[in-house]
Amino acid sequence: MTIPIDRNPNPNVDALAVEAGKVSNVHSDHMFIAEYAQGEWRKARVQAFRPIPLSPLALGLHYAQIVFEGMKAYRQVSGEVAVFRMERHHDRFNKSLVRMCMPTVSYELYSEAIRELLKTDKDWVPPGPEAAFYLRPFMIATEERMGLHESREFMFMVVGGPFKPIYTRPLKVKVEVEFSRAASGGVGAAKCAGNYAGAMYPTRLAHEQGFDQVIWTDSVNHTRVEESGTMNLGFVINGKVVTPALTDTILDGVTRISILQIAADLGYDVEERVITVQEILEGVRDGSVSEAFGMGTAASVAPIGMIAFGDEQIELSDTNQTVASQIKRQLNGIRYGELADPREWMYRIE
Ligand SMILES: *Cc1c(COP(=O)(O)O)cnc(C)c1O
Repeated sequence: MTIPIDRNPNPNVDALAVEAGKVSNVHSDHMFIAEYAQGEWRKARVQAFRPIPLSPLALGLHYAQIVFEGMKAYRQVSGEVAVFRMERHHDRFNKSLVRMCMPTVSYELYSEAIRELLKTDKDWVPPGPEAAFYLRPFMIATEERMGLHESREFMFMVVGGPFKPIYTRPLKVKVEVEFSRAASGGVGAAKCAGNYAGAMYPTRLAHEQGFDQVIWTDSVNHTRVEESGTMNLGFVINGKVVTPALTDTILDGVTRISILQIAADLGYDVEERVITVQEILEGVRDGSVSEAFGMGTAASVAPIGMIAFGDEQIELSDTNQTVASQIKRQLNGIRYGELADPREWMYRIE
């Protein structure tokens, strides 16, 4: 597959500033775009980042037939650029697309799109220890049509830019027992746009009440913990690394599964099972739950310092996150090429 590259005549990159880690949260100079019509992907190309022409009646705008991914490319200590777990992200992208009645993309198209974009914008990839190039592959239904209908036309795009998580103090989270992120039989396991719009209002209320995030619970009884914000949840319980088992209301996080693997490699017992709100509250009180953390591509591992349930606010005992930070060091070592990569998680660009 050859993807033509139409270079941006007015590149914005300041390679020295990127190298110094001074650029974050801005898009790079180029984007990948391909169009789907009459049952096939066509016109795949890399071009200058710019607005896309879209009918006001594009189906995606009205009915949220939109799916995305979030992944990162890391500047290795050798200077090479490598993407973390390309295949697993591609696989999840296709699963989300099937759920939303959208056409899948081949691994070849997905990986070459990302390779060509990163080769073109390689000066935008910042070095570690925390910074990386955030990649946002996404697809949107573009067919112009009045009324609810499965689209027959789509755009697949990849955009991205340098991103450095800002270090924050350990998160204060609130167990959400009124609103739900996802219901059984719904689309919580798909990375589809509508899930995130629905989460905004409860998240805003949590912010107004002084919390950083909510802990989502099951939508029927609100007794089982599921995720935190847009991250999977992990706990250290009596020295074991424990996370909710996947269901159709939990997103199958790439960071989550990678952390479970690393924890097992480091010799920890790992459990994927039902975790109740009550178990966590009691465990934090009596100290058996020593750590709680979010897991996701953006923040990698985000420590949780306090959990609120109703009027009660309880603090985690191990604020140093002994276990979680050990796992994070290992994960980052693989991502930045400082440690061996026995499972070939890193996809080398050049
Ligand atoms: C993307 C996402 C995650 C984290 O997945 P990663 O693959 O680790 O980035 C967790 N929960 C939700 C709801 C998400 O959208």
